Amino acid sequence: MSRSNVNSLFQTGKRQPVKRTDSSKETTYEDQMEVIVVGETETALNIQLQDSDLLQKYELAWPPVDQRTIQESVKKILAAVGEDPSREGLLNTPKRVAGAYAELLSGYRTDPAELVNNAIFDVEYDDMVIVRDIEYFSLCEHHMLPFMGHAHVAYIPGKKVIGLSKIPRIVDMFSRRLQVQERLTRQIADFVNEVLDPRGVAVVMDGTHMCSMMRGVHKCHSGMTTSAMLGIFREDRGVRQEFMMHLERSAGKKTLGA
Ligand code: ZN
Repeated sequence: MSRSNVNSLFQTGKRQPVKRTDSSKETTYEDQMEVIVVGETETALNIQLQDSDLLQKYELAWPPVDQRTIQESVKKILAAVGEDPSREGLLNTPKRVAGAYAELLSGYRTDPAELVNNAIFDVEYDDMVIVRDIEYFSLCEHHMLPFMGHAHVAYIPGKKVIGLSKIPRIVDMFSRRLQVQERLTRQIADFVNEVLDPRGVAVVMDGTHMCSMMRGVHKCHSGMTTSAMLGIFREDRGVRQEFMMHLERSAGKKTLGA
């Protein structure tokens, strides 16, 4: 289902006559409408969030972690670094590591429909919504070592808002993966944009990267700030500045990215 079609479902919440021009060869809208019973926004949203293209785009609905293979592999790693996998302290380590990866990489298995369920509201509200200082933990895809920091998410609603507690859960969904900070930032912005169809979205993230700090090399910057600006945040310098001012005020004496 294309994005504009989904939007029109949102706006009406009802089945509408399909307007088609002769030049349009697309039949998918009408075909899909036959099987969709749209009673309310949430139904349409759930359909949108279960769409296989969307799941693929956001790397979701992955199969469960193969913990057994991780356990066997960790045993080999322990032996390869010269350790004795059978000594008491390491006996349960493969199992613990497998469990830890399942948890740290659970973002690929989050159900987005369940995540946002019952938390999208139709409103007449067009002021900036900002959720600041969302703590996140992720794993860098280059070394599988942690990076962590804070995410700041803002949007200006179109016709919908999302419950504030859901924004940190969206951050979790994308951070509990193998990531690079730039993509993480962008995925959060894209997903909020997709679900809310707001006038604009801004995401700023600072990150401290263990692969750089612990190893004393600078392939990843130890402290970095990334941002993704969509819609009005990208187009309107004033809106962008208002957002950045909010962040600087909240950061107090801290300097962002320092
Ligand atoms: Zn790294």
